[in-house]
Amino acid sequence: MRVTIIGAGYVGLTTGACLSELGHDVICVDIDKERIARLKAGVFPFREAGLDEIMIRNMACRRLRFSDHLASAVRGRDIVMVAVGTPKGVRGEADLAFVRQAAQSFAPFLSPRTVVTLKSTVAVGTAREVREIIAEERGALDFWVTSNPEFLREGSAVSDFLTPDRIVIGADDRDAGERLIKLYRPLLDRGVPLVETGTADAELIKYAANAFLALKIGFTNDVADLCEVTEGDINSVAKGIGLDPRIGTAFLKPGPGYGGSCFPKDTEAFAWIGRALNAPQPLIEALIARNDYRKRHIAERVLKEIAGISGAQVAVLGAAFKANTDDVRESAALQIVPALQKANVGVKMFDPWASGNAAPLLPSATWAEDPYDAAQGADLLLILTEWEMFRSLDPARLAEALRRPVVFDCRNLFDPEQMALYGFRYVSLGRANVP
Ligand code: NAD
Repeated sequence: MRVTIIGAGYVGLTTGACLSELGHDVICVDIDKERIARLKAGVFPFREAGLDEIMIRNMACRRLRFSDHLASAVRGRDIVMVAVGTPKGVRGEADLAFVRQAAQSFAPFLSPRTVVTLKSTVAVGTAREVREIIAEERGALDFWVTSNPEFLREGSAVSDFLTPDRIVIGADDRDAGERLIKLYRPLLDRGVPLVETGTADAELIKYAANAFLALKIGFTNDVADLCEVTEGDINSVAKGIGLDPRIGTAFLKPGPGYGGSCFPKDTEAFAWIGRALNAPQPLIEALIARNDYRKRHIAERVLKEIAGISGAQVAVLGAAFKANTDDVRESAALQIVPALQKANVGVKMFDPWASGNAAPLLPSATWAEDPYDAAQGADLLLILTEWEMFRSLDPARLAEALRRPVVFDCRNLFDPEQMALYGFRYVSLGRANVP
């Protein structure tokens, strides 16, 4: 099928590359002309496992192309997919300005019987609103607007797209839904479950899914706090509850509070939808406040560990909001590092991928060459991201590099007993601190 993707960002590019891999003819469009020029030259804007190979392969056979010429990219296509950003608005709502602008800009070029589909995460009712925007411009044109939310995770985006848990197709018209089913036929034939629904339900599914996942994280963090005061172990508790299939083992790890480009903004947007439609979502409202508190509380706990040390230095490992991505949007580091600096603590950081993205946002931090360099002369080592390379750090070398052997591990990467043997004070989450 001939597919045009509007918005060559994280989701748009991954989707475009993967759809071309499935055999479709894909053009990715972006208003950022520089981004398009770089993509044409094979320079990709972010790091994601496996994506480069797919892009290079499909660009070579011209199944994947990039354009900043909207008219020719939109005319005569079977599907126009909108994957522009929907950032947090001033009241927590999803800001739909990019979606509206995109619809207005491509509407003049839509060919008859094109299916427009919204991949962006959007408020309930947006597909209908986009329909009206296009209809206003094109009057009698026969076209459809559908919803096809995306569930990929950064760090495993390609495999998530190509082997998804489910595909959700929201269409208020049977023919339009059939077109999207044809688009995903190669995946559906491999047994991927399909959820066919109306556009409003599809829009809500995305928010409800992210809100529920964020709730699991928030709940686990609260249980971890309980484990700490009962000298328990969150790993055992998580296993004990997670083996109940109604709960499931995924997402039951404590951490410094969820971040990233989706959970913070999607939980806020979900709560806003509830308020706007007079169907309040108090669980999610509480979760948002609690997650914010979590990050502040971690900073307070770190400060307590180094209280009284004048000119204290903290080594921070991890700026990305999670491992295997260079994305730092709403990462724990962006909240915790400034809180430490506000208390006059010097911060030296290391992240294997995300330092380039984080450095401009944390201008007062210095950046290390590697984790041991970050630890050199520090009074405490704070681990914020669960990078695999941090798990395999040599505790003896860390102990040697640090001025005081204190590790505050927000990802539970080490065994407390072993860390005690190396002479560390080792604080982790949801487990007894040693000593
Ligand atoms: P992004 O910021 O990485 O990319 C958006 C792109 O759209 C940018 O390159 C921007 O220049 C472009 N754009 C904006 N307006 C445009 C226009 N009028 N015409 C053409 N291009 C335009 O955003 P993202 O992370 O890819 O997210 C896109 C959407 O997908 C959001 O709604 C997000 O919530 C949702 N989503 C994101 C993820 C994720 O993990 N990042 C996962 C699932 C869903």
